[in-house]
Amino acid sequence: MIEKRVKDILKKVPPNVTVLAATKTRSVDEIRRAVDAGIKVIGENYVQEAYEKYNNLQRDVEWHLIGHLQKNKVKKACEIFDVIETVDSVKIADALSRRCANTDKNMDVLIEVNSGREEQKAGVLPEHVHELAEHIHGLENLHLVGLMTMGPAVGPEEIRQYFRLTAELYETLRKEYPEIRYLSMGMSDTWQVAVEEGANIIRLGTAIFGARKSKK
Ligand SMILES: *Cc1c(COP(=O)(O)O)cnc(C)c1O
Repeated sequence: MIEKRVKDILKKVPPNVTVLAATKTRSVDEIRRAVDAGIKVIGENYVQEAYEKYNNLQRDVEWHLIGHLQKNKVKKACEIFDVIETVDSVKIADALSRRCANTDKNMDVLIEVNSGREEQKAGVLPEHVHELAEHIHGLENLHLVGLMTMGPAVGPEEIRQYFRLTAELYETLRKEYPEIRYLSMGMSDTWQVAVEEGANIIRLGTAIFGARKSKK
């Protein structure tokens, strides 16, 4: 099942778009099957959960953090991840930079945008993205390479406006910072719309692994 789903999705997705497998709650065995079917990037929401899977997977993949990062998890996050997609404050950017500089690691980061202006959601408000980008640009060992957004939990057509807004911010930033090249948006129900609006990383969980048992 996982193998077939991955192969079908990879056939449908344009070649410039990376399919990230969102692997929260999935076992190492399930993840390995997805990787062996062609997935090259995996995204975890929780640092501790990723840590437990990291050494067991034994596959050459890129690890992205796609959940909110807390300051007390920065050290472990620097060890495991290749890309942090969820930087949303000066404080967390500073902590990451300091930690990565200590270990001589260069970390690619994305800014998470709260495109739906939802109070309970992580991410920076659209009007604060430039300010944070400028700050990250001045930090050692962090490389700002893109933007990520979740958007509100609405259907594919209702979410389009939030993807479009994030894509506009992305295009504006790219003029200033040429190393910016990733726009991460779209999940199992909404990835087609996200790709139409310019996403080049889509994050798929249920479309690859089936329904999650526990709601996270
Ligand atoms: C769980 C999750 C996804 C994938 O969601 P699905 O609807 O299962 O595809 C994508 N991005 C983030 C940040 C997630 O937490």
